[in-house]
Amino acid sequence: MPVIRIFPARIGQNAQHLRALCQLRGIEVVGVTKVTLGDPIIATEMLSAGIRILGESRLANVERLRASGISHHMVLLRTPESREISRAVKLVDTFLVSELGPMRAIQEAAEETGRRCTFIYMVDTGDLREGVHYKNASKELTKAARLAGDSLSGIGTNLGCYGGIIATPEKFEILLHIGRKIEKKTGQKIRVYSAGNTASLPLVEEKTVPEGINQFRLGESIICGTDVTNNRDVPGTRQDTFIMSAEIIELKTKPSVPEGLIGQDAFGRKPVFADKGKQLRAILNVGEQDIYSGGMIPLDKGAEVLHASSDHLIVDVSKCEKTLKVGQTMEFRLSYGALLRAMTSPFVEKVYEHTS
Ligand SMILES: *Cc1c(COP(=O)(O)O)cnc(C)c1O
Repeated sequence: MPVIRIFPARIGQNAQHLRALCQLRGIEVVGVTKVTLGDPIIATEMLSAGIRILGESRLANVERLRASGISHHMVLLRTPESREISRAVKLVDTFLVSELGPMRAIQEAAEETGRRCTFIYMVDTGDLREGVHYKNASKELTKAARLAGDSLSGIGTNLGCYGGIIATPEKFEILLHIGRKIEKKTGQKIRVYSAGNTASLPLVEEKTVPEGINQFRLGESIICGTDVTNNRDVPGTRQDTFIMSAEIIELKTKPSVPEGLIGQDAFGRKPVFADKGKQLRAILNVGEQDIYSGGMIPLDKGAEVLHASSDHLIVDVSKCEKTLKVGQTMEFRLSYGALLRAMTSPFVEKVYEHTS
């Protein structure tokens, strides 16, 4: 079985660095664990690094964290579906919402349970994922403030994740401006401006986050040390937090271009091939069910990932410096997307390494 080795202490170092960096600018970090499926060991590293709030997108992950004894403030990053609400209010402290209906339903369920849940109402500042579009946010947010009262703790936005939109100070100014307008109209205080995720970290580094923004929700940068939206490693963090290995089950020299008429591959993609002559090709026992082939970075110099189908990963090892054999394993670093699949796959063994 392919193995993913997890280095929790390294994730802890990333958490410590980013928590301290954000704190210098008056920004509190919400540590997002969703890519690890709510792994309690990793969450504990974040908490030990001084992070006080955790963020999760799925209730099963929140349950896993709670079952391990973690009682910290928990933010649910995606609106729960209606039949999950009664379960959610027992587990979650703050909900990110973008519709009045679910917000009301959550509030009523919380009141019935005798728990206090708060809300961060999302504003879409251009990435076109969740949130009321900023150009007509005022009416809906005013209603939200009146309905939720003091339980509307703040407003937020998310950039980079869907449209790949880059965070700029102007985007955050939009959020602050809307917040002030709501405060004026309702007399209620907007306490939390939950602006960024990993894609917004360059603004923290460049000290251009507008005054008033006071919360960032960080996952990828803590866990992988990367920032896919800006295509970079995050300065001051480590990227060797997870290493995957899979076994070579076939190693043969073959042409680099398939023979016959080319249709679509197993995923409906139309493959393109460059003729590189004969190649030494390794087939490994891991595939698209467990990883995303575009996000596998071989640690062996000279090796190049070509493609994967559901169960087979094909690597060009013609230029690999190491002499490989069938039965040996190859190691890879993983992108956020590849890690997400590997952590989710029951066909990948997870092993914790207690080295720093
Ligand atoms: C996943 C998620 C985050 C964390 O994003 P990263 O890019 O991993 O830092 C923040 N906010 C919301 C709403 C999310 O769903």
